[in-house]
Amino acid sequence: MAPDLKRFVVRAEVPCMHRSTTRGLLLLAALVGTVFLIRPVVARALAPDDRDPCDPRSLGQTHGPILTVYALEAGEISNLCFGPHDSDLDRAWQSLAAITTPQERASIAAFAIYEGDYAAYTQRINTESTVFVIAVNRPTAQAHPQTLRHTMAHEFAHVITAQESNVWNGEQVATSNCIGDDNLYGCAGRNNYLATWTYQFWPSNEIESLDRSYHDPAEAARRCLADPGFVGPYAATNPGEDFAEAFAAFVLSIPVPASAQSRVRFMSSNVEIVAIRDRIHAAGLSAPDLVIGHCG
Ligand SMILES: [Zn+2]
Repeated sequence: MAPDLKRFVVRAEVPCMHRSTTRGLLLLAALVGTVFLIRPVVARALAPDDRDPCDPRSLGQTHGPILTVYALEAGEISNLCFGPHDSDLDRAWQSLAAITTPQERASIAAFAIYEGDYAAYTQRINTESTVFVIAVNRPTAQAHPQTLRHTMAHEFAHVITAQESNVWNGEQVATSNCIGDDNLYGCAGRNNYLATWTYQFWPSNEIESLDRSYHDPAEAARRCLADPGFVGPYAATNPGEDFAEAFAAFVLSIPVPASAQSRVRFMSSNVEIVAIRDRIHAAGLSAPDLVIGHCG
């Protein structure tokens, strides 16, 4: 069963309002050859102004009512902290846990199921971008195992690119340090995946167009029609979704069009992403039967 890619989304919480594409272009050369790391985040206590991952009202429930929440500690479920036990949520959790290590998911504070729009979303719950909640829509949790794994890998990519080490948060540094468009969590900073990805694959006019269309399906369709380099139509939504789709396709060995090979090469040039793919392949958890679609 092919995934319904239009239903993937990453939740915006504190968009960075600063956009400086010219500065980003000037800094592009400094990004070449950077070695990236998916840094494990040390769990810490939440601050008073952080959202409570076990309180749906605190999380906002923009995409629909949250039904059950599992609290996580050190990348593992510690307890049921909201709602009744939910076997669909168990299934989704097992899918995520199968393709990630506890260390890789250490920054996820809670895992929730909801009913509403989109297949799943990732929400950061503190301004430092060190703690996240992943929420899965019930139909996604009940989907074909390969489709569910695709969604989980996609959301995991958002966690990677939204981590503190990948974001210049406006409250931490002067916004003049931001380069490029916001990634919905803060500005993509230097020496990280998303900034490099953006300037490698998104021309400046498209970066600027994101100011008015960060999640506009019509704009995504236009970009998809014009550029065969995307790994499927949803990837044309914005750089964050572009990265997440390419990451998910790569680590799950989902076939992608030949025209998207430059994005595959980006992934294959990063040893830690290759290691994730190899681990998933060795466990027999690749998803070669999925069809993502094509652009151009
Ligand atoms: Zn997404």
